[in-house]
Amino acid sequence: MLKVCKIKKASIITIGDEILNGGILDTNSRWLCRRLTELGVSVERISIVHDTVDAISIEISSALNSEVDYIIATGGLGPTPDDVTIESVAKLLRRDIKIDAEILGWVEKKMEFMLMLGFKGGMTKAREKFARIPDGMIPIYNKVGISPGLIEKLGDRTLIILPGVPREVESLFRDIEEYIESDVTIECEELKIFGLEADLADCFSNFTKNFPDVKLGSYPSRGTLLLKLYLSGKDAAQVKERLREAKKHLLKILPTA
Ligand code: ATP
Repeated sequence: MLKVCKIKKASIITIGDEILNGGILDTNSRWLCRRLTELGVSVERISIVHDTVDAISIEISSALNSEVDYIIATGGLGPTPDDVTIESVAKLLRRDIKIDAEILGWVEKKMEFMLMLGFKGGMTKAREKFARIPDGMIPIYNKVGISPGLIEKLGDRTLIILPGVPREVESLFRDIEEYIESDVTIECEELKIFGLEADLADCFSNFTKNFPDVKLGSYPSRGTLLLKLYLSGKDAAQVKERLREAKKHLLKILPTA
């Protein structure tokens, strides 16, 4: 069995009425979960909240008080009145909201470029809203949109605020990955079989007894089962080897394999 190691944890908070009323699917969380897992960070929780200052600040506060290292919130950074993430974060951190000169410069440059392309509007009061941030947070330049990302280390926790548009989330998150520290790798082995979960209960208990360090997930779909084995550890080669052993054992004890 591999030595148990401390894995970094994350909590994702998705902000938006549009998700809670079924208008759009929360693909940002899925992408973040995959990327965080690849980076060796375990996602402990995803929550989805309405676009209200209370809902957002309560949820972020509760994540900051939980045992996670990274809190990542997405959505609600735009210039319209329903975008209240900045107000919510300022309220919970008890900070003033300031206009950040660096962000204002970024937005102005983007607007000049848009004007050149023939888009009307320019640098309006509404667009100045993109430069409002809770005092003290570090802005991250958005290469594919306008709203900057925001990041701040608060004691042992890191708070990351991203816009909602999926390609902006992905681009900004990749740019802040240097802040995500993890010396652990999470590996997965998969195996697809015919069979029903209920017939495999004994087999699964046997597996868990022999490989208590390996997490076994089973995902049924129309008579087939996708089995996933997860293991984390410091040494990627050792983790992969242990997972190979686990898969071999599972294949041996599966009645339907
Ligand atoms: P913008 O600066 O463009 O206004 P924003 O931070 O205000 O961005 P939202 O208004 O919350 O972001 O979302 C903008 C759009 O991004 C939504 O209309 C939706 O199409 C998409 N979006 C938001 N959140 C998600 C999500 N969790 N998963 C998938 N798409 C999302």
